[in-house]
Amino acid sequence: MAHEPTLPASARVRLLNDLPARSGVHVLYWMQAAQRAAENPALEYAVERANELSLPLLVGFGLTDRYPEANLRHYTFMIEGLAQVRLDLERRGLKLAMLLAPPDEAALALGRRAAVIVTDRGHLRHHRRWRARVAAEAGCAVVQVETNLVVPVEEASNKSEWAAATFRPKLRRLLASYLTRTPEVPLRKNSLSLDPELPVVMPGPELVSRLRADDCAGPVSGFFRGGSAEGFRRLESFVAGPLQDYHTRRNDPGQTLQSGLSPYLHFGQISPITVAVAVQQASSVPEEAKAAFLEELLVRRELAFNFVSHEERYDSYDGLPEWARRTLDAHRQDPRPYVYSLRDLESAQTHDVYWNAAMDEMRITGSMHGYMRMYWGKKILEWSASPEEAFAAALTLNNRWFLDGRDPNSYAGVAWCFGKHDRPWPERGVYGKVRTMTSGGLRRKFDMDGYLRRIGALKP
Ligand code: FAD
Repeated sequence: MAHEPTLPASARVRLLNDLPARSGVHVLYWMQAAQRAAENPALEYAVERANELSLPLLVGFGLTDRYPEANLRHYTFMIEGLAQVRLDLERRGLKLAMLLAPPDEAALALGRRAAVIVTDRGHLRHHRRWRARVAAEAGCAVVQVETNLVVPVEEASNKSEWAAATFRPKLRRLLASYLTRTPEVPLRKNSLSLDPELPVVMPGPELVSRLRADDCAGPVSGFFRGGSAEGFRRLESFVAGPLQDYHTRRNDPGQTLQSGLSPYLHFGQISPITVAVAVQQASSVPEEAKAAFLEELLVRRELAFNFVSHEERYDSYDGLPEWARRTLDAHRQDPRPYVYSLRDLESAQTHDVYWNAAMDEMRITGSMHGYMRMYWGKKILEWSASPEEAFAAALTLNNRWFLDGRDPNSYAGVAWCFGKHDRPWPERGVYGKVRTMTSGGLRRKFDMDGYLRRIGALKP
């Protein structure tokens, strides 16, 4: 029995091919970017489709040890989260079938007997390629649901935005309609006894050791434990405490006033809507504090998704604005008192104690204070033999050591250090018209001794 494709019910939902639902034994939710059971519009849409077709819903996941730039640090965090997804889904009567296979292969294999395949949305090049392949080869309707952004990327803007100032008004006028909770849809048919007839694996510590994952960066579970429950716990304690002073003191690296939610957002273990609504509803928190946080979570974060969606060269020096490349080129031959190799940088062997502490923070914890991320990237530009080498080094280190690396925010954050989403500033050596940052500025504004003490205490 074939069903006509249903028209998308919301701008979050997009048909990736024009095939109808076919007769099948289940509906498949191919989970990839939104690794959570709560507040997941793709999952709830899939439950609706399964109910409508009177079929059980299988949730599928493909785990590959060749994921672009992923290492043991990332896999450990992700698998900790997936172990919880399995239990959360089971409580709802949903089976998680995980295959050791690239995500697109797993979707096609698990979707062989599916009536419809529903998936969440990823915005990087390989995410788009996987979804295009599944849509072309699945032989049934493939539907994508935007799950990790508040406003779907093309609803907010249909072009690459110049800066936050041009993007902010476009996003703001849509926020009220998109900042809505996703209610849990009651499931009609339990799928726990479904047998995908494929060799499935269980997410857990044994699985991490089975993977041939690159071990260049080790696990950081002592600082960040993967999973939605830990994401919710962090959100709750952030809203109850540090959020109060977020607008005035978040930039001080000597303080820990940030939420620490970026790894959970990166792996889709928590929804940005859950975070934004919790912040909006926080009673007795100054409005300025809420606004400062929502500016980062909504405007800055979604601007990064705008960047990777509209700029094919988001991970390359050529993707920088023309004015920035021109000015950096004009200063190519400027004297550089310090030039460090990738190895010097990675082992925190520079003359600058603040920079070295930031690199230590990154290696030891998998994260870095937000203000230090800016300083860290700017100094790589200043201390590299060429701006192209600097860009490549910053991105390599970012994506290797940060748990939240390999994210649209990674590409936008690194590109910002080289002028993206910024404007020309008064001209200086090496940087040209790209904004500079100095260690003197750090000392003048912040408790940098406090930062050095905080990071020093992390060292074994
Ligand atoms: P909070 O201050 O608690 O903010 C909450 C959320 O808002 C963050 O989780 C994040 O999603 C968003 N946010 C905060 N600041 C920014 C920002 N400047 N731009 C975009 N979104 C923001 N972020 C990553 O997620 N992954 C990266 O790999 C990454 N690399 C960066 C590299 C450089 C050179 C720079 C300058 C910034 C980078 N950022 C990156 C952006 C930002 O620094 C981090 O998102 C933030 O520090 C994460 O900590 P938090 O979750 O405690 O943030």
